[in-house]
Amino acid sequence: MGNQYDGYTMRATFANIYMGNLRSNIEQIRRRLAPGVRLCIPVKADAYGHGAVPVAHTAVECGADYLAVAVVSEGVELRKAGITIPILVLSLPQPSEFTEIIERHLTPSLCDSELIRMLNVTATAMGRKVPIHLKVDTGMGRIGCTAAEAPELARLIAQSQGVYLDGVFTHFAVSDSLLPDDVAYTRRQIGTFQQVIDSIRRLDIDPGICHAANSAAVFQYPEAHFDMVRPGLVVYGYYPGDITEEYLNGVVGGKDAPSAVHLQPLMDVRSSIVAVKQVRRGESISYGRQWVAQEDCQVGVIPAGYGDGLLRRYGENLQVTINGRLYPVVGRICMDQCMIDLGTDSSVSRWDEVIIFGPQEHGALQSAQDIADKAGTISYEITCGIAQRVPRVYKDE
Ligand SMILES: *Cc1c(COP(=O)(O)O)cnc(C)c1O
Repeated sequence: MGNQYDGYTMRATFANIYMGNLRSNIEQIRRRLAPGVRLCIPVKADAYGHGAVPVAHTAVECGADYLAVAVVSEGVELRKAGITIPILVLSLPQPSEFTEIIERHLTPSLCDSELIRMLNVTATAMGRKVPIHLKVDTGMGRIGCTAAEAPELARLIAQSQGVYLDGVFTHFAVSDSLLPDDVAYTRRQIGTFQQVIDSIRRLDIDPGICHAANSAAVFQYPEAHFDMVRPGLVVYGYYPGDITEEYLNGVVGGKDAPSAVHLQPLMDVRSSIVAVKQVRRGESISYGRQWVAQEDCQVGVIPAGYGDGLLRRYGENLQVTINGRLYPVVGRICMDQCMIDLGTDSSVSRWDEVIIFGPQEHGALQSAQDIADKAGTISYEITCGIAQRVPRVYKDE
């Protein structure tokens, strides 16, 4: 598929993005949806680190109905790249961004009368009628009006010249948890959201597209699909929380599996051994001298560090795959480089390829999920953290 670095020399550290996996993941998600349920694909934070523009183009080819971004500038980037399908802006905009939202045909999420009125003034002055998705907080505790406020806000939107109600939505706090309390909480959120929709309809106002489901809810709560779903993480090939591949395929938890699921991560991050050195017993590696060789050994250097998104706190939880074997990072991860313990009788040589993480079928023995589990974070943070200076190479596979 080519990439933005064609034609000039690429650095040793780069990320492959497997667009075939993106297509396959979207296809598997589609199979879970009733006919007519729309698909909104979140491409915020540069498509969770995978590159918003290429992911958006492929998502459109795969039949996505909406895209979602967090901030206005992300929506503008997609419009400049020729994306014409509706783009929902999930976070609250600044009033100063309204002109740009309108000019770029973005769909803002709003949840209070002050912003709705201000947008209406700007839209009316520009002679436009702007779609709004009303965000309702049914238990996430982030942005959104209360269930009680929603009907009046829907009425305000319906009665304003410059705007119209294109959708109503909410977001789940614990849909990825199988703990009974969390399941009950999510069911209450779904119930509250249904009541909000009903109360808007009772005012004879069309709520537009009603949507709630994130990745976990797409698989776990089909009753929460409503008119559209917004799965992010699963599109990128990772499983949310307790909703693992084993669980979905009925291997654990005794769940009936409607069809086998096998999502595949899109991203692998690769580098290469740029130096191999002999280290004597007692010699230390990297800042702080925290790792000291217990015996004579070989240490490899790779040109990737926290400036590339290999966070310093991953420390020795980070292992890399070289020639089909795992080797640990030793010593502190630096901004631009880190060191690998190659052991005493290593067959690794200079220029050997290193896979930092990635999908198994492309040779990685460690996934972003593995790193996340060991480092006490979530896979979202690993892929979002891969820095801009790591070139993305788009593959058709
Ligand atoms: C990020 C986000 C999503 C997608 O969540 P995933 O857990 O990645 O599926 C959906 N809706 C909203 C409002 C979001 O902010």
